[in-house]
Amino acid sequence: MAKEQHFDGQGVAAGIAIGTAYVRESGAVDVPELRIPKNQVEKEQKRLKAAVRLARRQIRLVQSRAAAKSGTAGEELTYLLDAYLHMLQDSRLVRGAEQRIANQQINAEAAVKAEIVDIAQVFQAMDDSYIAARVDDIREVGNRLLRNLTKTPIKPFSAAPENSIVIAEQLTPADTAQLDPAQIVGAAAMLGSAEGHTAIMARALGLPTVLGAAGLTGGVRSGDRVIVDGSAGHVVVNPAPKTIAAYERHRTEHRRQTRRLDRLRNLAAITRDGAEITLQANVELPIEMNMVTQAGAQGIGLLRSEFMFMNRDDVPSEDEQVDALRSVIGVMGKRSVTVRTLDVGAEKPVAALLNGIEESAVSNLGLRGIRLSLAQTDVLETQFRAILRAANSGHVRVLLPMVSQVGEIRRAREIMKKAAAKLHRRGVTIPDPLPPMGVMIEVPGAALAADAFAQASDFFAIGSNDLTMYTLAIDRGNEHVAHLFDPLHPGVLRLIQFTATAALRARIPVSICGEMAGDPRYSALLLGLGIRDLSMTPSSIPRVKQRIREMDMDAANRRAGVIMDQVDSGRIATLLDDFNALA
Ligand code: PEP
Ligand code: MG
Repeated sequence: MAKEQHFDGQGVAAGIAIGTAYVRESGAVDVPELRIPKNQVEKEQKRLKAAVRLARRQIRLVQSRAAAKSGTAGEELTYLLDAYLHMLQDSRLVRGAEQRIANQQINAEAAVKAEIVDIAQVFQAMDDSYIAARVDDIREVGNRLLRNLTKTPIKPFSAAPENSIVIAEQLTPADTAQLDPAQIVGAAAMLGSAEGHTAIMARALGLPTVLGAAGLTGGVRSGDRVIVDGSAGHVVVNPAPKTIAAYERHRTEHRRQTRRLDRLRNLAAITRDGAEITLQANVELPIEMNMVTQAGAQGIGLLRSEFMFMNRDDVPSEDEQVDALRSVIGVMGKRSVTVRTLDVGAEKPVAALLNGIEESAVSNLGLRGIRLSLAQTDVLETQFRAILRAANSGHVRVLLPMVSQVGEIRRAREIMKKAAAKLHRRGVTIPDPLPPMGVMIEVPGAALAADAFAQASDFFAIGSNDLTMYTLAIDRGNEHVAHLFDPLHPGVLRLIQFTATAALRARIPVSICGEMAGDPRYSALLLGLGIRDLSMTPSSIPRVKQRIREMDMDAANRRAGVIMDQVDSGRIATLLDDFNALA
């Protein structure tokens, strides 16, 4: 019997999963692999040819946009795309795949996939760094063919059997969005950490997940039995029967606790001395709407609109966006929904949006969030039109991500007005007045200038994830610095307090929607800093509500006062934990 192995990482989504490992090869696209009868060989070869033609058209389109860009970046991209086009002509990749279909009688997807693996092996064996680097190009082109063959949207884990635990070197937020909880019960990866978007997505789906588990992929094979403890940050491969029994008991206890908290659903989030707090939900995917209702959320404080743009090669049309937004807004009825415009960035690239902009320009300090939207105003205008149309059926607010200049808010307002005017001309009814427009306070410069920003915006939503990242210069998704990511750093707390005070003075609403908001450990401090509206992943609402109901607002204010006099985050943590233990 295989030996039990243990791996440690960060538990980023609580709960225990016991299932069968489904190991994802890095960079691979999951495709169906089928044997075909002889009389279908020609048909499969034709499908391959069509996918090649489509890939060439797609690349030429990107190339024509790249050519419009001046400078060396545009030139380099043009050369690279030339090389891709070449690989799609009479190359080993295409010829090899064609022959495999005939010789091995397999479908086109399986043939392309096998050919990529073969070429990669040959290249890697050559021990030449230039040729080794070309392996990535072959994969890129091959994966495009696979996507064209399987037709978008891409379903990366559709081949995983029921009760699977996905094991990967890295899971992007877009990958994670594709994990179907009916089929996949947990996930673990070698890279990533608790504050990144992959972790947020895993929590949204309620999938026990461990990230940053060093050495994991070397120690596990598809089909192995695996336990993921997303609370403790532990993965066990090939567990002994006695280990499984122990974790089954943990799992039962975790489920019992969750059910107990469900009873709070219809109770108000009110402190013992009568302060009413609003608890809203952060939503990544429409699939969460059941959970939003079940958790008793008073509204959606953050709808991350990226879900509409993920896992596809094109930009969703206005109508598609309207449908997706209505599926969320309709469920909420009279409760407010805060729709954030696209926050595409380093962790969440969307190829179709690059439109001639080279990939390296989109980074955490580059064209992220509102910056990319303002560089592609047509995409933003379409998004505004969709939001305005969907807003007719509910109470909607619009939120701008990554704002660092007051001018960005003004420009966004102008684009919203333009979108509204276009809809008027089309005879479409839209809300009058236009929905409130607020900004995420998540860049330190915006927090420091919160009083000025309050003059230009209708509300604030504090993004403590990015605010911590940018204030402390710590990449939120990087497992190497995960231990340094500290929202209790006095620098971060001062920025939160300054923002809350500025909003209060300007009489505009302020909420917090970073991961801090969903951790009951921080509730007393956030309330003490003047925040009365918290937005979080739906499953966190009951726990935070429970904490609020046992707390005294006056005492929380006093403790926050003491905490804000401290300079050391260790001391702050102790003062906070002592206060929490008193309740
Ligand atoms: C944040 O930065 O805190 C936030 C809520 O936005 P996101 O996590 O989507 O970057
Ligand atoms: Mg953010």
